[in-house]
Amino acid sequence: MRSVPHFINGKLIEEAGHSNVFNPATGEVIAQVPEPSKEFIDDVVEVARGAALEWADSSLSSRTNILFTLRQLLVEHTDELAALISLEHGKTIADAKGEIARGLENVEYACGLIEHLKGEFSQQVAEGVDVHSVREPVGVVAAVTPFNFPIMVPLWMSANALAAGNVVILKPSERDPSVSIRLGELLQEAGLPDGVFNVLQGNATTVRALIDHPGVDAVSFVGSTPVARAVHERASTHHKRVQALGGAKNHMVVLPDADLDAAADAAINAGFGSAGERCMAISVVVAVGDVAGPLIEKIADRLDRLTVGPGDDPSSDFGPLITKEHRDRVASYVTTAATEDITVVRDGTTMEAGNGFFVGPSLLDGVRPGTRAYDDEIFGPVLSVARVATFADAVELVNSNPYGNGVAVFTRDGNAARAFSRLVRVGMIGVNVPIPVPISAYSFGGWKDSLFGDAHIYGPEGFAFYTRAKVVTTRWPHSTGSRIDLGFPTTR
Ligand code: NAD
Repeated sequence: MRSVPHFINGKLIEEAGHSNVFNPATGEVIAQVPEPSKEFIDDVVEVARGAALEWADSSLSSRTNILFTLRQLLVEHTDELAALISLEHGKTIADAKGEIARGLENVEYACGLIEHLKGEFSQQVAEGVDVHSVREPVGVVAAVTPFNFPIMVPLWMSANALAAGNVVILKPSERDPSVSIRLGELLQEAGLPDGVFNVLQGNATTVRALIDHPGVDAVSFVGSTPVARAVHERASTHHKRVQALGGAKNHMVVLPDADLDAAADAAINAGFGSAGERCMAISVVVAVGDVAGPLIEKIADRLDRLTVGPGDDPSSDFGPLITKEHRDRVASYVTTAATEDITVVRDGTTMEAGNGFFVGPSLLDGVRPGTRAYDDEIFGPVLSVARVATFADAVELVNSNPYGNGVAVFTRDGNAARAFSRLVRVGMIGVNVPIPVPISAYSFGGWKDSLFGDAHIYGPEGFAFYTRAKVVTTRWPHSTGSRIDLGFPTTR
């Protein structure tokens, strides 16, 4: 059985496998992932620390060149990377290419590092005194990523972290770890010095060891809410800089004046794309007033036309779920819905799938707070409809939810959309846009239980997170002369 290697100090290091990587379309075990020992992790951190000073001292133009080259290599290798992602994750090749394209945006943003790392300068703040600020790298960053975007989320973190002069230890998801190794190799080919980007395979124990290690300065985490909360707490007890993005329950509010065909298309795309395994997937359609009946009809009609199959079959609209356990959990929201007085409009759980981890598209009507299907992040191809009477009820529903990652409103009324955007307590809002993932020049982040820590990820907040400010106040002796004065320095 193939064991997925680590990529440390520019070299592939093999260890015996521990947990299984599946082909989710067939259920077959295709590789294993090692569980590194504490001593191994100590060595990796030592490698990272050893590379940190020189990389922090590298010229901004050399870093820019490396990132431009990486961008080109990612474009040239898109087919190969997409196939690898699809094999281990199960998403369609087209979806995997979309993920690579969104990750590329972050590399492109990071290519502007000379602009992003500019400091400020104030001349003559007092007689003969100037002040300037610079942003310096934090040091060694542990980047811990989820299974659902095995290259995009590593790029969310690594592009800016490396651009800002940090060394990265990426701990990818143990479910689909192979593409991160290719990322390491492409960075090396692009000219990144050995030891600056390392991939450490492993699991929860590995993550905890990285967080606890005194040689790790900052932790970027993306994953589920319980783990994000725990990672944030653990890193905080070590007084480390930490951002931990968690799970979601994204609502799509459809107002009575909305274009219902466009809303139904959007609900299908955002609810079932990538089998619903996206942190920005639409999970609940909130039907306001009397739109529920016609909207459900339109969604169900479109849903019946979806094709579910292996990710490498071009006719598949979406593929399998990541593991059998996850598949069974997702199916349970449909099979137990009736016990909570929820109507199953479409049941995809009976789909014939061999040993693959498939659930067909499912549609539930009448979910509400207090039911499992509403309260949990399902993370599968199960779209729910919640019915509310008014705009105010919709806002109240969204704001009462503990998650606050993304939300969308569908309407033709600009004032309603504007009011909605101002009232909802959610980090990313779409107006007639169901998956409002910001472009790389803005930062990505949810509110409430969708993000622990102060900084959103990538974009300007990414550069802020991966750097520390330093402010230098300068006076040259000949400018004003000197005298003895023990008073507190003022500018007056
Ligand atoms: P997960 O939380 O199970 O795992 C994420 C990472 O944490 C993996 O690398 C894993 O090895 C590690 N890990 C798992 N348990 C741990 C523990 N107890 N302590 C320390 N580390 C641990 O998440 P997942 O199932 O891989 O990914 C899906 C989840 O990620 C969903 O909840 C989804 O909403 C969320 N997600 C959020 C965003 C976002 O931007 N907010 C983006 C993508 C995914």
